[in-house]
Amino acid sequence: MVTGGAGFLGSHLCERLLRDGCDVLAVDNFYSGTKDNVAHFMGDPHFELLRHDVTFPLYVEVDEIYNLACPASPIHYQRDPVQTTKTSVHGAINMLGLAKRTKAKILQASTSEVYGDPEIHPQTEDYWGHVNPIGIRSCYDEGKRCAETLFFDYYRQHGLQIKVIRIFNTYGPRMHPNDGRVVSNFIVQALRGEDITIYGDGLQTRSFCYVNDLIDGFVRMMNSPDEVTGPVNMGNPNEFTIKELAETVLEMVGGHSKLVFKPLPSDDPKQRQPNIAAAKATLGWEPSVQLRAGLHDTIEYFRKFLQV
Ligand code: NAD
Ligand code: UDP
Ligand code: UDP
Repeated sequence: MVTGGAGFLGSHLCERLLRDGCDVLAVDNFYSGTKDNVAHFMGDPHFELLRHDVTFPLYVEVDEIYNLACPASPIHYQRDPVQTTKTSVHGAINMLGLAKRTKAKILQASTSEVYGDPEIHPQTEDYWGHVNPIGIRSCYDEGKRCAETLFFDYYRQHGLQIKVIRIFNTYGPRMHPNDGRVVSNFIVQALRGEDITIYGDGLQTRSFCYVNDLIDGFVRMMNSPDEVTGPVNMGNPNEFTIKELAETVLEMVGGHSKLVFKPLPSDDPKQRQPNIAAAKATLGWEPSVQLRAGLHDTIEYFRKFLQV
């Protein structure tokens, strides 16, 4: 079962699991995902799509749960912040209750946002984070932190088999053109010849992982020995400023877009880079797709999708 299965990452994960020979149940309420993301395997008899909101109980029989349900882009998770916290917290309780009853293994898609605006760099899993509890990003950051707490309490109290991964910025085909995250925004703007909107001075950094690399990490984590619970960082350690990203996208797309500077949203982290030593050591995982190669495929996807 993949919650958030009609989203960007969820749809790629469903596709990979179907390819591996699994029966896949995708659960989604279509808050930020769409049926279009899974349309091309809707006819597969090994795939089922269920419209359901994980903040409500769910009784199904499954043996592995990938819990991805939660809007990931700031503009989407801030549109209904109360629902975002409910999705993370009530959703985690329900999915953990389901895992407890069915004795399923359960993997949580956590996030680098648990580190907040980090004071140590790069971030390792033992860093507890620097998070504002009452800001506009808190519904997501604190919701995901509480979900991690619940995972580890169900592990200690009820002996559940848990797997927690902390995902750093990931991009690729099938992001929604209105997703609002930086890579899709810049590509869509460049393809349409619109201004490229850099928030702040563009010197803040992020590290960008291509979706296929991350999906491989998901499956390796689920298949890891029982004692591997995480949390494990997953992302590409190559770090870029947002301005560098804008320049690279513009150079690759071509065209005449201008770089324009807009106000920086509050609590926007200044830097972010994963330390992935734990994923390398325990899972033998590291990303192999570098930024330009991943951008190339993503640009081609959007060119076709937008017909430009
Ligand atoms: P996305 O918004 O494309 O996908 C999230 C999916 O969850 C959507 O299909 C949405 O409709 C669904 N959803 C939201 N609330 C739900 C609810 N209450 N019940 C059922 N379904 C619900 O985002 P994504 O990038 O695919 O992210 C997937 C997961 O990975 C999220 O949990 C996110 O926090 C995590 N993550 C992603 C990134 C990244 O860079 N892509 C980074 C860190 C963490
Ligand atoms: N739950 C669910 N599906 C199941 C089992 C449980 O959705 O198959 C939900 C149910 O709403 C419950 C929550 O998960 O409240 C937590 O379950 P747990 O067994 O931990 O606690 P309890 O049932 O005692 O509240
Ligand atoms: N950003 C930007 N222009 C955009 C969208 C985002 O400059 O059109 C910046 C944003 O302020 C942040 C970085 O790019 O510093 C990454 O933003 P995103 O929303 O992709 O992810 P997150 O902030 O959650 O890492």
